[in-house]
Amino acid sequence: ESELEDIRGGGTWKSERVIASRQGPHLRLAGGGAGIINFCANNYLGLSSHPEVIRAAVDALEKFGAGLSSVRFICGTQSIHKDLEEKIARFHQREDAILYASCFDANAGIFEALLTPEDAVLSDELNHASIIDGIRLCKANKYRYKHMDMQDLEAKLKEAQKHRLRLVATDGAFSMDGDIAPLREICQLAQKYDALVFIDECHATGFLGPNGRGTDELLGVMDKVTIINSTLGKALGGAAGGYTTGPKPLIDLLRQRSRPYLFSNSLPPAVVGCASKALDLLMESNAIAQSMAAKTQRFRSKMTAAGFTISGKDHPICPVMLGDARLASVMAEDMLNRGIYVIGFSYPVVPKGKARIRVQISAVHSDEDIDRCVEAFTEVGRKHGALS
Ligand code: PLP
Repeated sequence: ESELEDIRGGGTWKSERVIASRQGPHLRLAGGGAGIINFCANNYLGLSSHPEVIRAAVDALEKFGAGLSSVRFICGTQSIHKDLEEKIARFHQREDAILYASCFDANAGIFEALLTPEDAVLSDELNHASIIDGIRLCKANKYRYKHMDMQDLEAKLKEAQKHRLRLVATDGAFSMDGDIAPLREICQLAQKYDALVFIDECHATGFLGPNGRGTDELLGVMDKVTIINSTLGKALGGAAGGYTTGPKPLIDLLRQRSRPYLFSNSLPPAVVGCASKALDLLMESNAIAQSMAAKTQRFRSKMTAAGFTISGKDHPICPVMLGDARLASVMAEDMLNRGIYVIGFSYPVVPKGKARIRVQISAVHSDEDIDRCVEAFTEVGRKHGALS
């Protein structure tokens, strides 16, 4: 109880608002609150409530049932699982792919399966918690380089030359700061020091790059990144699930050794149906992926003009930097009173003293939605003295 009091006292208590409608740009909250404009989902492309995605889930549910009651290698593999893996590999232009119940699981499974005590993993200090946990589980030698600092990465790569194999691990796009990893430079260093490159593309798959393939496409290094982990629970329909895609021998190895794959239930058919349809939509046309950029730019430039500091660059994750945890949470409440759903992020999700409200733009926000959000921020920011 006293620990809980400390969390409340520190202003970092995370309460959960209850939504009584589908996920989308406009929501209804339980106990009232209709017509709320939602700016904090990872529903980047608006596919979570897309009619064709929902239809595909219903069809898969009817044809293949509620679930498999089994892990993949016992009796948990249906044709739709194999089809989705093939589709994911084609989407990313890789040899093969393997499904997991979540990307958290994909990150938990990969490092331990791939790396031995003779190997080394070099990880950006601000990598997602699931990468950090995955690395903790493996017995490789661990190096942590300063956030996106190529000099530090090079120094660590030199130090790691004594090991059998080197793997550089980074988020493609960092979810708390909206910044994009310098993959060109990372891949150049990897080539120079004979290392493999792993990226987590949860906040990039579906919408970064000309065809929405992700950070590697955006930065022109699709042929240089060895391994991609990503999620089906954000832009790709938003239901759940994750995957690894990369060279076939690596995927084969994961099927034999990866613990979250070997010891956890198969992805439910309805979830497979959603993701499969989302990928079809993205492979048919790049119009959805392309529609994000102008909206992101509108929000970022209007907020900067209003006097806010927005972290990151050109990414639909737009963190409004505030510093103080209590200010972030009080401002988020005031925003909700004005019909705008945003959430304050504070320690331990972000470092102490770097609290923020993370705004996420979706392709299905209208210009009017974005302008209403900026107006509300300006009013609330003035009220709390948060504008520079
Ligand atoms: N990696 C990153 C960068 C994420 O943001 C997330 C989700 O928050 C995950 C991994 C975990 O993804 P999933 O929700 O599929 O477990």
